[in-house]
Amino acid sequence: MSLNLSAEQPAVPDDADDGVWLECIECGDTFAPFEDVRYTCDACDGLLEVRYADLPTFDDFEGEGVWRYADALPLAEGVTIQEGGTPLYEVPRLEESVGVEALRIKHEGMNPTGSFKDRGMTVGVAVAKELGVDRLACASTGNTSAALAAYGSRGGMETLVLLPSGKVAAGKVAQASLHGARILEVDGNFDACLDIVQELAEGGEAYLLNSLNPFRLEGQKTIGLEILEGFRADYGTVPDRIVLPVGNAGNTAALYKAFRELVQAGELAEDDVPKLTGVQAEGAAPMVEAIENGADEIRRWDDVETRATAIRIGNPVNAPKALPGIRETGGTAVAVSDEEITDAQRDLAGEGIGVEPASAASVAGLRKLRAEGIVDDDERVACLTTGHLLKDPDAAAAAGNDPEPVPADTAGVLEHLQEN
Ligand SMILES: *Cc1c(COP(=O)(O)O)cnc(C)c1O
Ligand SMILES: [Zn+2]
Repeated sequence: MSLNLSAEQPAVPDDADDGVWLECIECGDTFAPFEDVRYTCDACDGLLEVRYADLPTFDDFEGEGVWRYADALPLAEGVTIQEGGTPLYEVPRLEESVGVEALRIKHEGMNPTGSFKDRGMTVGVAVAKELGVDRLACASTGNTSAALAAYGSRGGMETLVLLPSGKVAAGKVAQASLHGARILEVDGNFDACLDIVQELAEGGEAYLLNSLNPFRLEGQKTIGLEILEGFRADYGTVPDRIVLPVGNAGNTAALYKAFRELVQAGELAEDDVPKLTGVQAEGAAPMVEAIENGADEIRRWDDVETRATAIRIGNPVNAPKALPGIRETGGTAVAVSDEEITDAQRDLAGEGIGVEPASAASVAGLRKLRAEGIVDDDERVACLTTGHLLKDPDAAAAAGNDPEPVPADTAGVLEHLQEN
């Protein structure tokens, strides 16, 4: 209920710290934000959200990157490597071939470690410092571990990452490794890794920085704020729709929260809120299933498979926050095949934008929804591309041109070029 777009700003509870507190989305219980470590509600185990006594306005924002939006965040500064402030690219050929009024690509691969996870970590790791913990942990399909390792080392903290063995793209493991994380390779899928790391965190072994952590999502809200400011600057209006890949649905939840807070603050009309449109791979689509069935809860998929390893997730933990976001904004969810994902990856590359497979799901989903007439030709759309091409060099090489062997002399090379 508290997740309706028209929800009233709640009263400030006694346990608020400087106007910031945690609130359970299920039962409404409130908690002090920085006193004890907690990821879910003590009373009912529901997901928590960060709440603010003072909601931000666009006039409050100044500076660059994620911390431009400090007034919308739980702390005034973070452990930073200059995250956020990513490009909102024009893609004229793709815009025309998809057939919408305007299409922009918000390329989150341009963050310091090459994915949007950095936006969550700059906040999450700062909160960990505030709480006084010394060991950080996450389960990851790769990018969370890369970001945690980088921000953890920046913050001078030990990091532990649990990865599904053999299912993480090469670039991501290399990052976690060089930034000094201890990498535990689990003989199971991502959801199994998350079950384990949650139990470790509950046992006090480490501070959990998966997107179950409500503070991480605060940092990720800034994607939505940047998109709105970028569209307003270029078109004088916010986008009609934002299309994004969905794994654990953290971003879907975070963008929706950003918009809800703007509506509550009177900074965005309810009718103007962009339609949140989630895209999953066909082999890992529990959110799409729940949206299609009108279900309030998702059914956990135990066997998930897709080339887009970053969204190879069968039990999206943020579904209770993300499903209302998709419904309340008039959005939808759609599943795409691995072939459609690779085609979209090539389309983006053809505009000079290099993304990993999961990122291309957004464009693949938009193309499909446009072809089905669910997206109109007069819509202005932003697609989120979540991670950089170099994250998954094997997928890029497989999707791109094959190298051609040639002899080591100019005549031989010329002959090859003429014959082929
Ligand atoms: C983490 C990740 C996702 C999934 O994001 P959620 O917020 O979990 O839905 C998608 N793409 C990439 C590249 C990611 O790293
Ligand atoms: Zn509760």
